[in-house]
Amino acid sequence: MSDRNVLSVPVTRNALHGGALREVAFAPSAAIPASATGVITIDLAQLRANWRALAMHVAPAGCAAVVKADAYGLGAARIVPALYQAGCRNFFVATFDEAAAALKYAPGATVYILDGVMPGAARDIAALGARPVLTSLGEVDAWAALAAEDEAAPPAALHVDTGLHRLGMAEDELEALVADDALMARLDFAVVMSHLACADEASHAMNRQQLDTFKRLRAKLPRARASLAASDGLMLGRSFHFDLVRPGYALYGGQANADLKTPVSPVVQVSARILQVQDVPAGGAIGYSATYRAATPRRIATVAAGYADGVFRHASAANGETGGAVIVRGQKAPVVGRVSMDLITVDITDIDGPPPVRGDYVDLVGPRLPLEAVGAGARTIGYEVLTRLGHRFHRHYVDNSD
Ligand SMILES: *Cc1c(COP(=O)(O)O)cnc(C)c1O
Repeated sequence: MSDRNVLSVPVTRNALHGGALREVAFAPSAAIPASATGVITIDLAQLRANWRALAMHVAPAGCAAVVKADAYGLGAARIVPALYQAGCRNFFVATFDEAAAALKYAPGATVYILDGVMPGAARDIAALGARPVLTSLGEVDAWAALAAEDEAAPPAALHVDTGLHRLGMAEDELEALVADDALMARLDFAVVMSHLACADEASHAMNRQQLDTFKRLRAKLPRARASLAASDGLMLGRSFHFDLVRPGYALYGGQANADLKTPVSPVVQVSARILQVQDVPAGGAIGYSATYRAATPRRIATVAAGYADGVFRHASAANGETGGAVIVRGQKAPVVGRVSMDLITVDITDIDGPPPVRGDYVDLVGPRLPLEAVGAGARTIGYEVLTRLGHRFHRHYVDNSD
């Protein structure tokens, strides 16, 4: 592939976070209404570049895309077609409804349902044309029951447990399954998969243990494509790639592996506007329950973003703790006082430059505040930040591919 989108991924093609950092947090665009109080900007060209970069990284293994939870909160209606356009043909979702959406936005794609077959739902999944990821003999039986005389049921995947003990068939059940010739004749396993517990830590002993177990278990279904790695696991080396990798978070610009930089760039920027700036005297309380008191005179900006927009209540630091922050004029301003439904209060006393005013945008996620940092500021992870972004902010999809 000589596509320049792929070759220049980390350096020049990122409309949001690449190149020179913007000093003003968010450059308003004609596409954003003046009345907007917050904007989530999603760069579809960078999303496609990320998928291609991961696909190149793992080739000749295939690269699927995990688009569960409405494409990690970014909107399956826009994300799925963009990934299909990039060349992705295999999608993983959690639920039936998500599969229906994925197939609507990418007709002809192969869509796997990680939650498998709920009792009584096999026929609906088959009618939809999706493939369940089966985890138990009960589910396997229900799926095999769809088989017509002398024919297999539609293709499915099998999830085997290699040590995560979350979803997946145990080894003894798998042995019983493959020993049952009559049952196996009615099944067509396209994919055999498992999931890693500690792939974000490259040196964790469980990675090697699960790899060895997976090699042993997948050998029992030699015709199925094998899939083990998600975003973090695909950075652990070729031996983890097998036939198909299943990244989600990395597609959206997340750095899932704490030790190894994934070859992707951010796709999402979240900005919200200042509603009011006020000077709080020494001793003044800020926010509900007066959890924060100004020790010295402070300048506080109230920003139109709250927990309804995905700001975590844990992002607010009481006195003496460090919590979350936002970026104001390229500088970090701490969240002080309780996060409320619609509002946060940030301390802008030490921000250099012209004083911030009502209407200015500040970044909640952006070039100087990656998802992982936002997660750390709220004692959670970037994944949760991404999937909890609210639906009140204006969603602005950009595509600078031309
Ligand atoms: C969510 C999920 C993935 C994708 O994980 P990321 O870390 O977002 O890449 C892959 N496989 C399974 C089984 C999952 O549940």
